[in-house]
Amino acid sequence: MQNEPENSSTSKSTHDYTNPVIIIGAGLTGLITAYHLRKANIPSIILESSHRIGGRVQTLYYSDNATAEAHMEEYWERTPHFALLKELKLPLMLSCPTATSVMINQEILPHGGHCGPDYFIKLFTEEEREALKKWNYKTWNLYKELYGSYFKGKPLPANLKSFMDISFAEYVHRSHLSHKANEWIRITLEAEISIEWDKISALDGIDEMRIFLESPDGFGEESAHVLGGNENYIYALVNKLPKRTIHTECHVTQIEQNDNHVIVSYLDVNKIEQQIKGCYAVVTVPLFAINSIKFIPQLSEDRLKAIQTTKFASYIKVLYRLKREAEKLWAQYGEEEGEEGLFTLLTDQLIGAIYNSTDFEKQLSKDQDLILTILIHGDKAVKWSSLSSQEILDKTGEQLQCLFPGFCTYITSSQINVYPQAVAYWPLDQKRSRFDALAQKLREPFGRIQIGGDTTENSHSEGAAIAALRMAQVIINDWQQK
Ligand SMILES: Cc1cc2nc3c(=O)[nH]c(=O)nc-3n(C[C@H](O)[C@H](O)[C@H](O)COP(=O)(O)OP(=O)(O)OC[C@H]3O[C@@H](n4cnc5c(N)ncnc54)[C@H](O)[C@@H]3O)c2cc1C
Repeated sequence: MQNEPENSSTSKSTHDYTNPVIIIGAGLTGLITAYHLRKANIPSIILESSHRIGGRVQTLYYSDNATAEAHMEEYWERTPHFALLKELKLPLMLSCPTATSVMINQEILPHGGHCGPDYFIKLFTEEEREALKKWNYKTWNLYKELYGSYFKGKPLPANLKSFMDISFAEYVHRSHLSHKANEWIRITLEAEISIEWDKISALDGIDEMRIFLESPDGFGEESAHVLGGNENYIYALVNKLPKRTIHTECHVTQIEQNDNHVIVSYLDVNKIEQQIKGCYAVVTVPLFAINSIKFIPQLSEDRLKAIQTTKFASYIKVLYRLKREAEKLWAQYGEEEGEEGLFTLLTDQLIGAIYNSTDFEKQLSKDQDLILTILIHGDKAVKWSSLSSQEILDKTGEQLQCLFPGFCTYITSSQINVYPQAVAYWPLDQKRSRFDALAQKLREPFGRIQIGGDTTENSHSEGAAIAALRMAQVIINDWQQK
């Protein structure tokens, strides 16, 4: 990686590259866009404001060679990432989707190593399962319709449009499921998207819930974690790009376009303004940060409104290293010595979801400390964001101590990562949905500029891959017509 595009100097200058695509941001979206362009032999250059690449993909490396994730955790099977991870020949740790325990009304319902229908047999009565099955069938069919229409570039059918007017909570309540079944759906979805189910439209919720639904392909989607850390995905993409494609510590401040070219202005590592001229600009900066870039001419009113009314959900991650003996604390739930029984545990408590990240680390030896990740989400993460690290640690410790008496005595180290703006959502109270006309407008090219990333599509990294594919394809089509 290098700091400065070639020929940059200490005074303001404009570099005229041979028709490059200028990509702003070296997270998943920027890198995947560059990768697809590269495969089509279209040169690109990436300007990244940070000193590091990867954006919200960042692996933490411990001194005993263990790793854990600071942010992005897992990739789902039906996303374009799966094909890409395989194409890049990355070793993966695959997990069964429904091997997730839940805590409802203070009661822990462990999955006990069961996937698929056996999992539901453990959790629900026959009557509850029948009702849930019907709800699942209805919801899967709606998703299929969504996939067959909207995701194939066709207009949204009227019956699906009506699901943009009610909340996902309302949609679920209309099926009169048991309290336990309702809670299972709520807790499962909210951990995934970090926002309460009554704050988003039913259609957005159905789109996200598909990960956990039974379909003709089986029960839910598998998830993948890159062995040795998700940052390996970032490096694998970088290795496919020509040298000097990525330029770190280049903070983009302005993008000007006319009929023939774009001129991108950025502050270099010395805070000196530089400019690059190119053919197209691809902006992968998350929408919460995009206001710091000036567009000339200004973005259209509807695009500005789309940006202003997209909101962001918070996550707080607390990573614990624990002495191995801590495993005995959850042995009663069937999880001991590498046997899976309890984790991942989704709770309705303040601490949200608990992952045993040791499971992602099959190379860890039995005498190395465990890694437990606590993912606090939704309104709890918003509330706790203003607390000091010590206060967050104290509160998390208190909760874990209640769940697993003695927990705190096994802690060898802890780490806190607070993300006030972690993932996007489209607030129902502002009549927004990721499928509405404003969202669609934002995804359309704005002359020679395209804006895309997870925050223009959905609530996790699937959006990054979808946006990257779309933006690269627009440029490839245009390029090939020349
Ligand atoms: C705690 C947490 C957990 C998550 N867990 C999951 C998960 O399990 N599964 C999942 O699918 N998704 C998850 N996500 C979401 C996932 O991390 C993101 O969807 C994905 O990483 C987004 O990639 P991106 O390239 O679109 O954006 P980013 O990764 O944010 O990259 C954007 C880049 O643009 C750069 N930038 C910003 N402004 C400028 C500027 N003016 N000039 C130049 N560069 C600029 C930034 O520095 C950044 O590097 C999680 C996110 C968080 C925060």
